[in-house]
Amino acid sequence: MKEEFLPEISVVIPVYNEGELISDSLLVIADMLSTVTSRYEIIVVDDGSQDDTWNRLTLLSMALPALSPLRLSRNFGKEAALCAGLECARGAAVIVMDGDLQHPPELIPRMVELWRNEGYEIVECVKESRGRERLDKKLGASAFYGALNHLSGHDLRDASDYKLLDRKVMDAWRRLPERITFFRGMSAWLGFKRITLSFHVAPRKSGSSQWSVFHLAKLAVNAIVSFSTIPLRMVSIVGILFLIGSVVLGVQTLIQKFQGVALTGFTTVILLLLIIGSFVMISIGIMGEYIAAIYHEVKGRPRYLISERIVSSEAQAAALEQHNFILDQNMNLSTPRREPQHSRHMSHD
Ligand code: UDP
Ligand code: MG
Repeated sequence: MKEEFLPEISVVIPVYNEGELISDSLLVIADMLSTVTSRYEIIVVDDGSQDDTWNRLTLLSMALPALSPLRLSRNFGKEAALCAGLECARGAAVIVMDGDLQHPPELIPRMVELWRNEGYEIVECVKESRGRERLDKKLGASAFYGALNHLSGHDLRDASDYKLLDRKVMDAWRRLPERITFFRGMSAWLGFKRITLSFHVAPRKSGSSQWSVFHLAKLAVNAIVSFSTIPLRMVSIVGILFLIGSVVLGVQTLIQKFQGVALTGFTTVILLLLIIGSFVMISIGIMGEYIAAIYHEVKGRPRYLISERIVSSEAQAAALEQHNFILDQNMNLSTPRREPQHSRHMSHD
């Protein structure tokens, strides 16, 4: 009875300042979804937009009963917005996608078919081409993924955040306790029966990418720090190499001293000081990153805070139905057992 109201497919879309695009995108996505199933929900997470995104979502939710917008109290970043949406998703499968139509909704029927008929638990869409991007972003991305592949052992080069996840995967993902998240990496780490579909990244219709160089660098550092401890180990390896080097140099200096050969000035000393100094600094920096990560994990703050949420009318009906159902059950169960003694004991508990 309860299951009837649960959606089959949940779509989670994080958006930030997408007022211009969001209505069109959602209508296209909803159209595409309705060809696949009648039981779907669209959870749009407004990641603290400063434009009219939230107003548009509020209006749209009246026209689109399957839409449940969710608003974070400030801009927490795409990863946190994704987490918020995923934790609210109730579908048997969840599709994660961007709100700017750069993730083509035409792939949805194929994704659902692979999940429904062929039993894949993760359908990942990979970028066949990265679309039109600024050169610095392209170079940055290839350097970052190159480093991440070596450090984490997962090939994430063309990975995108456009995926379908089965309920089982979602449950497993929810059990990961970490606060610093890199969704692409975490879903690769989870495993499960997976298949990839490739797609071309369509150019943005309007608006602009919200990622600044600073945000991307932060994401890259988070991804590496939360996926690999190799940089931390590198500190000790470099340390050992330096020790060997200094022993060799020390022995040579001593031999020269005993042989009475004059030292060749301060150049070597200054160079050594500089090199060692900089390596020590870099090492401390790397350690700092990990300590920062530990600090964030230990603090255990929530990943996001929700300030508002509109529950779709379908969901309300389902909640009401469930509430009545539970009420009915409780009435049936509790009627024969209404003994005062018993209830006193219960309240004492
Ligand atoms: N986004 C978000 N929070 C942010 C930045 C972006 O929720 O702080 C959303 C954005 O609205 C979009 C998706 O993340 O739906 C992808 O962002 P964008 O299109 O700017 O990135 P790109 O496509 O260039 O990777
Ligand atoms: Mg985009």
